[in-house]
Amino acid sequence: MSAPPEAANSRYDYLIVGAGFAGSVLAERLASQHGARVLLIDRRPHVGGNAYDEPNEAGILYHKYGPHIFHTNSEQVRDYLSQFTEWRPYEHRVRAMVRDKLVPIPINRTTLNELFGLDLKTDEEAADYLASRAEPVDDIKTSEDVVINAVGRELYELFFQGYTRKQWGLDPSELDKQVTSRIPTRTNTDDRYFTDSFQAMPLHGYTKMFEKMLDHPLIEVRTGVDFAELKPRAHELADHIIYSGPIDEYFDFRFGRLPYRSLKFDHQTLDEERHQPVAVVNYPDPQVPYTRVSEYKHLTGQDAPVTTITYEYPSAEGDPYYPIPRPENQALYKRYEALADSTEGVAFVGRLATYRYYNMDQIVGQALAAFRRIDEKRKRHRPQPIAVAAE
Ligand code: FAD
Ligand code: UDP
Repeated sequence: MSAPPEAANSRYDYLIVGAGFAGSVLAERLASQHGARVLLIDRRPHVGGNAYDEPNEAGILYHKYGPHIFHTNSEQVRDYLSQFTEWRPYEHRVRAMVRDKLVPIPINRTTLNELFGLDLKTDEEAADYLASRAEPVDDIKTSEDVVINAVGRELYELFFQGYTRKQWGLDPSELDKQVTSRIPTRTNTDDRYFTDSFQAMPLHGYTKMFEKMLDHPLIEVRTGVDFAELKPRAHELADHIIYSGPIDEYFDFRFGRLPYRSLKFDHQTLDEERHQPVAVVNYPDPQVPYTRVSEYKHLTGQDAPVTTITYEYPSAEGDPYYPIPRPENQALYKRYEALADSTEGVAFVGRLATYRYYNMDQIVGQALAAFRRIDEKRKRHRPQPIAVAAE
């Protein structure tokens, strides 16, 4: 998989940078639907991007870049990926460690009852209770506004302020409302993290799904290759470039660096069958240096006498994992986007290339939409068959 790029002396129709969801979906579509010759590169030693998983030395399938749980409301995305994997039904549940208790997050009726020793019995009672604590905000702009408006300051501080400060290195008041809006507030006892119509894990893992997606004679995968090595002759190598790395890096940081948040992952295999009651436990307490602990066997259903967990430590340095949603960053991104729009022969697709805090399914949807645009353009420019008049 990782012969030097010099070995490639043929021309490709597409050079695709990044073998995560964005790059891999486009490689698959272009090869299988257009018969295009694709060179897909990634600077990491594997495909799958952040969704990459592998069995560790103990044989436990773990996610190298933190827990990835698949969920979507899009039938199109589900049907597309289902060509490359079977699924294991899985509904994600998370607990937060608050005041020495493991309580459901998103906050629901059980959370309120367990935390405050209440006996709220109906949705209405829980809604009234939350309304009595909420501090209405007229114009909800920030991630602080969203939560204070829904549940008031005490719950905000217990569940959101510390976690967010650790995760982003910023106070929720400095982040766009979209960040904490990802977490709803519930008055019922539904303790699932997501309510999407389709929630499942790829039966044999993400990497196997990617391998199947990329198993096409017209797709050549080269891992361990940085675009920087190929950039000077990229347009000799291929007619078109699709780039799914960080957009500011593509343009050599011309307008300055776009901020990204990174994480350090501490993977540990423990000599116990089960470590925690659910796949993910969040730690909003500012005194605890990590944000969450994940245990993969809940996600995969793997049966083994040992278990693998991951601690996530947020960090300013390291690989870019999260675009940071706030107005000044969006303004800087817009400058890069304008430059990207005026750059011929290169399409920017993916979480880092479009600087969007998107989940996997949204990136698959974005890549499928990018393919449709290429497809329509191709149809428009294809010479129409010449009608020969019968004599
Ligand atoms: P990536 O997966 O980042 O792939 C981009 C690839 O491009 C990378 O492999 C990178 O090495 C490569 N690349 C970049 N620059 C270059 C270069 N110059 N040369 C060569 N290669 C390059 N989503 C969910 O739906 N559910 C979840 O539970 C979930 N959990 C997450 C947990 C964490 C800790 C993180 C960070 C993200 C999570 N996500 C989750 C989001 C998910 O990871 C992304 O939506 C998805 O992986 C984005 O795919 P992508 O192809 O855009 O980017
Ligand atoms: N969040 C929080 N406390 C929690 C869970 C989430 O403060 O217990 C906030 C935090 O800012 C986090 C955001 O909500 O970054 C989105 O949470 P999600 O679980 O969707 O984050 P991701 O899985 O993308 O890291």
